[in-house]
Amino acid sequence: MAAKTKKTEYEISLSSEISELKGIGPQKAERLAKLGIEHFEDMFEFYPREYEDKRNVKRICDLADGEKVLVRARVLLLRFGKGFGKNRTLHLLCEDDTARMEVLFFKGAFLAGQFKQGELFDFFGKVKVENGRVTMFHPSYSRSEGTEEKGILPVYPLTAGISQKDLRLCSRAALLHADELSETLPASAVISARLCSNAYAYSNIHYPQGDEQYKAARYRLVYEELYYLDTALALSKDRGGAGRNGNSITGDYAWQFASSLPFEMTGAQKRALKDILDDMASPKAMNRLVQGDVGSGKTAVAAAAMLQSAKNGYQSAFMAPTDILARQHFETLTKLFKGFGVDIVLLTSTMPSAEKKKALELIKSGAADIAVGTHALISGGVEYSNLGLVITDEQHRFGVNQRRLLSAKGKCPDVLVMTATPIPRTLAVVLYADLDISVIDELPPGRIPIITKSYDAKTRKQAYDILLEEVAKGRQAYIVAPYIEDPENMEGRSAQGLFEGFSAAHKDISCALLHGQMDQAEKDDVMTRFYNGEIQVLVSTVVIEVGIDVPNATVMLIEDSQRFGLAQMHQLRGRVGRGKHQSYCLIVTDGGGQTAEDRAKIMCQTLSGFTIAEKDLELRGPGEFFGYRQHGLPQLTLADPVKHREVAAKALTDVQMMLAKDPKLTSQENAAFLKNLKRKYMQSDGLTL
Ligand code: ADP
Ligand code: MG
Repeated sequence: MAAKTKKTEYEISLSSEISELKGIGPQKAERLAKLGIEHFEDMFEFYPREYEDKRNVKRICDLADGEKVLVRARVLLLRFGKGFGKNRTLHLLCEDDTARMEVLFFKGAFLAGQFKQGELFDFFGKVKVENGRVTMFHPSYSRSEGTEEKGILPVYPLTAGISQKDLRLCSRAALLHADELSETLPASAVISARLCSNAYAYSNIHYPQGDEQYKAARYRLVYEELYYLDTALALSKDRGGAGRNGNSITGDYAWQFASSLPFEMTGAQKRALKDILDDMASPKAMNRLVQGDVGSGKTAVAAAAMLQSAKNGYQSAFMAPTDILARQHFETLTKLFKGFGVDIVLLTSTMPSAEKKKALELIKSGAADIAVGTHALISGGVEYSNLGLVITDEQHRFGVNQRRLLSAKGKCPDVLVMTATPIPRTLAVVLYADLDISVIDELPPGRIPIITKSYDAKTRKQAYDILLEEVAKGRQAYIVAPYIEDPENMEGRSAQGLFEGFSAAHKDISCALLHGQMDQAEKDDVMTRFYNGEIQVLVSTVVIEVGIDVPNATVMLIEDSQRFGLAQMHQLRGRVGRGKHQSYCLIVTDGGGQTAEDRAKIMCQTLSGFTIAEKDLELRGPGEFFGYRQHGLPQLTLADPVKHREVAAKALTDVQMMLAKDPKLTSQENAAFLKNLKRKYMQSDGLTL
């Protein structure tokens, strides 16, 4: 390998190994491989982290404080400052024709050999201008020979042993051959979105010729990422159930059930149910997401769908993320279905094995119309006789693959996904492009809006005063803490600590502790007693986040709110306000700075899950948003479906238009695109095309 003659940047081709280039030895090639760069074509999508604007050399006398600039100056004097040996600071006194400037390198003594008195250098960095004194800190620099790089230069993320210079060498070489690239998007997309070519886009994302060119480049690359992702998701949606299951589930059962409920369904519930029933009636398999805020009444909608399925001779599986929730659903549904002649069983992994065995038999024989449970429902041992409908509750806890596992238990069953996590539309199109969406954006009437208040360490007592007043009135309360046990220096702030403190101070109040490390029997016992009203104050970790419905609970007191995300607090708040009494959400923030205060403020300002989700997204970014990464979606590099929501919408429309004309991408026009798409998404989870 080492014997090979090296090539110039003109001689290489895009598929050449990077080590073939003059200036890149085997060691550097190995390090570049760690960055994912083995061939020149890999360089295109190795995007710069930022840029150095070296278009204009600035005069020292014109510099403003805080500017990042290029200065050409002569070194007048070298001097060492604070520190010892190599750790000393290196000071350079420099000047151009207009003024003087000091350049500082902390611990930079080792650089001294690079600078000689009287030589001209280009310095690029941030300057401080104070009382007429100009200082530049840790600039990048090069000897000025009139041949140095100009323009807007890429700054790449580095790894040990690889310099900006190396990467720039490689990217320049690759870009010299960018014209050899063929178009990677269908012509229809390029025309519709008025995109620049990919060669132009790569050139200008690495070495922008100017702001306009950079914008055009970025637009194309962001659009392209989203376009590929949307197409992959859309095609996998079609495949997810091979489209058809032959089931045509019909009848008036669901509406009869709805009218048997002790309440009238809200308009939004009815709309969602209608969407679902239409899907079920069609021989195409349903793939639908129902989004509805906490308390919007998703369970009743799901129940109606399951009844419809049962009456048509198909089994339903209803999967909840926790044992407690599965049990509660089981109880609720048992009550709701009374008199409808459907058989319903519970299946969780913590059930006694005799009970489990019995449930498994009922499911297998088809005697059970509906199976409610946890992950146990998708475990290997479960066989269904005729599974026609699969419902998962609180979707964000389940990945795409788990959903698929459950579906695989039947012959292309209808799939319904329910979530109380209001996902901003912008993100939903990307996360759930494989699902149709119904939104329940209306709460049942007569709910009294929850009062939300914010406290800090000093006013914490006022929060507890409200809690005590409510308990005195016969209501129940939750206190939620981020930790199970006291962390260092935070005495009494964990669930355990708060529980001990509270019960010692209020001997007359019955109080209990609940956390995730307790065993199931203990947890169930506590929950049941709280549910029955025997426990007045429940001190807990977030185990109650998804879950139980206790209408007499009117206070949700959240301790150390800075440790919780907005959406999580919103979920917690949803535990109260379910009955006929005024409820309170009391948020105690102790530390966490401005972000924590902002979050508490937003909670006080709105009860809308959708608004909160939008804000959450703004504060945390989509990467953090509800384990967005756990959805098994390929990672987007440049595109951010929130920041680029308009591009995302455009890309989606264009994809839909293309697929309407060429649903399987079989046309000649889309052949190249299909090939690229397959290459890109072949390996990624759940998106096999
Ligand atoms: P979620 O959407 O959070 O799962 P649930 O299905 O648990 O909400 O419903 C919350 C409560 O509201 C339940 O007690 C349920 O019986 C009640 N409920 C549901 N729909 C209505 C309605 N249309 N009118 C009045 N109460 C309703
Ligand atoms: Mg629910």
